[in-house]
Amino acid sequence: MQTDLAIIGAGPAGLSAAISATAAGLKVVVLDEQPVPGGQIYRNIETLAATRPAHLQWLGPDYAAGLPLLRHFHECAATYLPMAQVWQVGHDGRVYYRRNVANEGAVGIVHARKVLIATGAMERPLPVPGWTLPGVMSCGAAQTLLKASGLAPDGRFVLAGSGPLLLLLAAQLIRAGRPPAAILETSYDFWGALPHLPGMLGLPGYLLKGLGLLREIRAAALPFYRGVTRLEIKGRERAREIEFEVDGRSFIEAVDLVFLHQGVVPNGNLALSTDIRHHWDDLQKCFRPELDAAGRSSSDMVRVAGDAGGIVGAVGAAAMGEVAGLAAAADLGSIDAAEFESRAAAARQLLTRHRAARPFLDRLYRPRQQWVAPTDPDTVICRCEEIRAGDVRHLVAAQNCPGPNQMKSFMRCGMGPCQGRLCGLTAVELIAETRGQTPAEIGYYRIRAPIKPVTLGDMAALDVPSRHDAVNP
Ligand SMILES: Cc1cc2nc3c(=O)[nH]c(=O)nc-3n(C[C@H](O)[C@H](O)[C@H](O)COP(=O)(O)OP(=O)(O)OC[C@H]3O[C@@H](n4cnc5c(N)ncnc54)[C@H](O)[C@@H]3O)c2cc1C
Repeated sequence: MQTDLAIIGAGPAGLSAAISATAAGLKVVVLDEQPVPGGQIYRNIETLAATRPAHLQWLGPDYAAGLPLLRHFHECAATYLPMAQVWQVGHDGRVYYRRNVANEGAVGIVHARKVLIATGAMERPLPVPGWTLPGVMSCGAAQTLLKASGLAPDGRFVLAGSGPLLLLLAAQLIRAGRPPAAILETSYDFWGALPHLPGMLGLPGYLLKGLGLLREIRAAALPFYRGVTRLEIKGRERAREIEFEVDGRSFIEAVDLVFLHQGVVPNGNLALSTDIRHHWDDLQKCFRPELDAAGRSSSDMVRVAGDAGGIVGAVGAAAMGEVAGLAAAADLGSIDAAEFESRAAAARQLLTRHRAARPFLDRLYRPRQQWVAPTDPDTVICRCEEIRAGDVRHLVAAQNCPGPNQMKSFMRCGMGPCQGRLCGLTAVELIAETRGQTPAEIGYYRIRAPIKPVTLGDMAALDVPSRHDAVNP
């Protein structure tokens, strides 16, 4: 399939890019591994609006705000490939995907003149003792169940960690009539964030929204522990108790389920696998691609928009996608520079306001060091290969291991099916702390395609002129 612009990701960024690029005359293909468009925030919104409209009340007005965006997307001329998992992007514009439709897998290639990666965000893990026990999930997983299937958790459960999504999920579950037994907040720094407040004042609605969530939580009279300094989930076959410390006092809550969350970071494996330049963002505590204001990267072929380029939130992601779609049209000669400037002006302004607001939120919920570099040596950090924090610290100290890529060869950390998505940042923080260096100096895993599991049979089935090109273009 030939196209002008291939967009990977049908969240706010990818959808907005498709709308603006098609309106500017480009032929566009959008690929997404989910069965329906919407991304994380607007997951399953059209089905839920049609089948369970009451659930929109639980999920709140920001969720319902996705409906007009999806309507515009359906009206635009883009070709949409749902359930298409992209496992490689080449610098020649080839996008390799595997599509799972009606239990049949089919592989294919989109040949694009430009590629826009809009793969969004993922949750930063919160590796604490016991986090791998059955009954422990991420807050994102709980919210996915709520959005995808209208399911709220049963039994007695606790939310633990930090970030806006923790509070949002608490409020959504309260509205659904399933309030958590307690909320345990692990990182919160109002005084550190205060100097960044002026940037936030450009979006007064966001401040009010945050205060509104806190009000809902307070009104539900839930135990809300701020400043948790130790967290351990206990149980033999599954989570039974959560033990934690606040101000030197220990507490224990009986639980059936625990939902953990520690903010979101770019879902970066696809962008990283293209070898575009990345840098360490010390406020968001993650690596992000180096981009210009229109999402262009260090490769002429590859662009990145939305949370995949650094966390900017859903409205900011949509604005960035709109600008990136128009920039692709300008670069391919479909519109001229003056038209680009006038069409992109409003989205650029919106994006500037959202970017200015980020440092306040990033600082407010910046994870404390103990939660990103676990001190308990027995805490598992790589779930795929069952590597523990103590194994990494010991290896770095004993073998003078300089970084995560060398560590892979010693102990397979990051070499399981998730390709280091879950352990990557924790491994970097542990190595940096043990060596007395910064994460920027340590660097990240060298990510290589395929970034998603794909069989040799799938690769062999690809219709490419040279097999060598397909695997290693
Ligand atoms: C679990 C979770 C829940 C969230 N819930 C909320 C919320 O309720 N409210 C809120 O304000 N913010 C929420 N956020 C933050 C939110 O994701 C964003 O700010 C916003 O959705 C970002 O938009 P985006 O278009 O950049 O990415 P996303 O909306 O994340 O969209 C990215 C899309 O890319 C697709 N994708 C990723 N990799 C591939 C691949 N290899 N091949 C094919 N497709 C791929 C995904 O399926 C997804 O549909 C959540 C984040 C997470 C991680």
